[in-house]
Amino acid sequence: MNNNKLTHENKLTHEKKLSKLPHLYAPSLIISRAKGDSIWDSEGKEYLDFTGGIAVNSLGHGDPHIRKQISKQMKEIMHCSNIFTTVPTIELCALLVKKANEAFQSERFATTFLCNSGTEANEAALKFSRLLAYRNSKKGKHEFISFHNSFHGRSMGALSITGQENYKAPFMPLIPGCTLLPYNDTAALTRAVSDTTAAIIVEVIQGEGGLNALSAPMAACIQELAQKHQALIIADEVQTGLYRTGSLFASAECGLEPDIITLAKSLGAGLPAAAVLCSKKIQDVLAVGDHGTTMGGNPLSSAAALAFLDRLEEPSFQRKCQTSAKALDRGLGSICKKQKQIVPLGRGHLRGLYFASNTLDNTTIAQILAQCKEQGLLLLRTGTNSLRLAPSLHCPPKTIKRGLSILQKVLKKLELCQ
Ligand code: PLP
Repeated sequence: MNNNKLTHENKLTHEKKLSKLPHLYAPSLIISRAKGDSIWDSEGKEYLDFTGGIAVNSLGHGDPHIRKQISKQMKEIMHCSNIFTTVPTIELCALLVKKANEAFQSERFATTFLCNSGTEANEAALKFSRLLAYRNSKKGKHEFISFHNSFHGRSMGALSITGQENYKAPFMPLIPGCTLLPYNDTAALTRAVSDTTAAIIVEVIQGEGGLNALSAPMAACIQELAQKHQALIIADEVQTGLYRTGSLFASAECGLEPDIITLAKSLGAGLPAAAVLCSKKIQDVLAVGDHGTTMGGNPLSSAAALAFLDRLEEPSFQRKCQTSAKALDRGLGSICKKQKQIVPLGRGHLRGLYFASNTLDNTTIAQILAQCKEQGLLLLRTGTNSLRLAPSLHCPPKTIKRGLSILQKVLKKLELCQ
């Protein structure tokens, strides 16, 4: 049924019917349309979208350049599988390599594998790490090290390196050879890394696990141990990359020199797209057919990603991002001012508030989210005690102010701040 042709009354009945159909989505909100930083539900209620489609919609909703480029591509070709390729697919691979080498001021990146989701990108990264050891006859070099509170996806491989037991428990046993360590614990890392380590997988800011940030000593330790034991570094930039945290690659900002970078979320500007950027040593052992996916590098997603990367380059867009990030910073700082129990988290447009656990019971974060939603603001949670905000990168300061004033009002009502 075409939603645009429904009257308001019919629409409500239609939504009611929809909610009775079998599906696996939380029945929290059925969204009808979106524009810029707002989305509307079926009753026409407007919400400020500070979820960003879970850090995907970096340009907000309905960016004209993205729409134009997607429409243009739709008229050419939408899919041809991975037995052939298309111009946007090749251009995207090459552009990502170029941008990564510029960001890391090196020639370390040599090739890109395209796929459809962050999970798939991390799965490929794990396989490429083992492939490297296999092709170089490094028998036994198959172990992975990752960190508590990390999130890398929900396939059996990506779950095995994810540091959150609640996602894993029902699916045990997962793949062997995966060690989880406390984040930012250099002593534990030093004890764990050995010549059998194939790769260390790390998020520079733990997007789903509480927005904890990688410390400078930990980044240096990962770098040193990876070099000493010839282990790969996989930077999972699914959430932190592509300016979400203020720069193209968060790992470049903290001195990591990854062998593999995984990207997804905002890459396709709302279409499914993910990428695995690989260094020369992986390119050298990776042959056509070693790994693949039917939809990966789909021309439509690739055209969207190229258009997205174009937009990020515009100086006026970058100025807006900076102004917007400053407004977020100021606003969150002001909510936390004189509130010892609330601490601002994250950077750029991946931000949050941590609530000291003695101020919260289990349901408080859920209450904050529900009351903000009631007042027209959509937010995310991260970890157990924190809220997460992922608005568009160019969200105007007055919109940020409007959203944060709703949040502050809700926190006051719940007596979580003055
Ligand atoms: N890696 C990180 C850091 C993520 O935040 C996520 C998703 O939230 C994933 C991987 C999995 O990505 P996807 O949901 O696209 O499979």
